[in-house]
Amino acid sequence: MSRIIAIANQKGGVGKTTSAVNLAAGLADKGKRVLLVDLDPQASLTLSMGYREPDKLEHSVTEVISAIVNDEELSENFGIIHVKDNLDLLPSNINLSAAEVSLVNAMSRELILRTYMDQIRTRYEYILIDCMPSLGILTVNALACADSVLIPVQAAYLPVKGLQQLIKTIYTVKRRLNSNLQIEGILFTMVDRRTIYAREIVDEVNEVYGKSIPIFQIEIPMSVRASETSQLAKTIYDYDPNGKAADAYSKLTKEVLEHGC
Ligand code: ADP
Ligand code: MG
Repeated sequence: MSRIIAIANQKGGVGKTTSAVNLAAGLADKGKRVLLVDLDPQASLTLSMGYREPDKLEHSVTEVISAIVNDEELSENFGIIHVKDNLDLLPSNINLSAAEVSLVNAMSRELILRTYMDQIRTRYEYILIDCMPSLGILTVNALACADSVLIPVQAAYLPVKGLQQLIKTIYTVKRRLNSNLQIEGILFTMVDRRTIYAREIVDEVNEVYGKSIPIFQIEIPMSVRASETSQLAKTIYDYDPNGKAADAYSKLTKEVLEHGC
């Protein structure tokens, strides 16, 4: 059985991409076959995986979307890069913005990515989709094909309003397009427990959402080492294996694996 997890929050800079990279690496390390999908035209995930010139890649998620929109056949590994054992990447680049525009007039435009996932999902145990910072049609496509959504929340500003909007979108997609959709959990990222502000935000989100939405027990701590990884195209396990962020991401991996059984 494969599990598709969309990593979404319409706010940028909350740790979506960092969480996608390190959760994928953690799952792959546990022997799970993982596909990472970059669904952000900014291509931060593709860059973080070491592909420094995403605009020069021959194929990307953009061509996959265009092929589905045009009802064309895709060859088996079309666009997919084999990164290392158990870990594949469907990269993105700036052309994805144009694909997003082309979706507007496509038939069943919210279900384009699902059509693709139906073709490839049996090959993986986990498919993680790194969403762009918006609630536009691409993110709706991710929600429409996912089994669950993981919501990174940066514990450094008051996120409640944005969260309400995201959760509303998730429930609308669940009602209209994907009744299987669940919330994997809210994940606090960049938590600095020494600050009163971070503690207040964690408490407030727990109070407002804790009863209705799962919240991961593990919090990802603020870590300078973690912030350096994307630039270096390394996972936190490779760059700072004994640090607190690596420990947190390996505990997150465990929690996600437990949800899956
Ligand atoms: P998003 O994908 O939501 O835009 P990113 O994962 O790209 O967010 O993270 C935003 C920025 O915060 C990046 O510069 C990243 O390196 C940094 N960052 C991510 N996680 C942490 C952390 N635990 N501690 C400190 N900085 C982090
Ligand atoms: Mg990102």
